[in-house]
Amino acid sequence: MPELPEVEVTKQSLSPMLLGTTISGVHVGKPLRWPLGVDPKTLVGQTIVGVRRRGKYLLFDLDAGLLLLHLGMSGSVSVSQQWPGPLGPYDHFELQTTSCWMRLNDPRRFGAAVFAPSENSPQAHKLLGHLGVEPLEAGFTSDYFAAGLAKRAGAIKQVLLGGDVVVGVGNIYASEALFMAGIRPTRGAKRIGRVRINKLHQAIQTVLVRAIALGGSSLRDFKHTNGEHGLFQANSQVYGREGQACTQCQAPIKRIVQGQRATYFCATCQR
Ligand SMILES: [Zn+2]
Repeated sequence: MPELPEVEVTKQSLSPMLLGTTISGVHVGKPLRWPLGVDPKTLVGQTIVGVRRRGKYLLFDLDAGLLLLHLGMSGSVSVSQQWPGPLGPYDHFELQTTSCWMRLNDPRRFGAAVFAPSENSPQAHKLLGHLGVEPLEAGFTSDYFAAGLAKRAGAIKQVLLGGDVVVGVGNIYASEALFMAGIRPTRGAKRIGRVRINKLHQAIQTVLVRAIALGGSSLRDFKHTNGEHGLFQANSQVYGREGQACTQCQAPIKRIVQGQRATYFCATCQR
């Protein structure tokens, strides 16, 4: 599943090609998770004046309005300055601009392309309104994080995945950050002491920055998988390593299921 680092890397690669170009054609294929919400023709003639990311959404600021793209479970976006050939069976959304083609390829169709009149409109609010702060932006301070966790009764791993305290810490990254901070994934979020919260705050940022740095190559593999794979996983300390020796203490890594998602941890190093 595309997580924050993959979406950030996608944004970084799309941005220089799309910024300042004008939409000249829109293709909408099979239904995605949510409909576009407007006649595709209304996008034609609009210039892309900004490319941003919020959580796992790609945001394209237009002259009038906002286009939101979500990669769902299996989506990937490609952009090309030369015609990329006929649309494939999984290319369900395409923007043609004055200088390139951008395609959303999404075999499982949990992704979406949605138009919103503005970022404050109900259409955008429905998708973005519940999102917590960005983990790599200034608003994610350790004070903010501690205050958010103090109100949560659930297990810390679940609270991280919930995305309403801090957004974009997906399944792999939550397991890795908790290992780095020495915190057991099942520990109640509000029962973690401040020193350990500070460690976790730092670990989340370290893990995501590292994943973004590796993202260029993980994205390539990513396109061909439906699961949680990629280069980052090959470099993981606990994720996907059940039964293997902990890199710190040699004890076997354990795997449990929390909220239907696999969690990996070291029962010796994480308390
Ligand atoms: Zn260990």
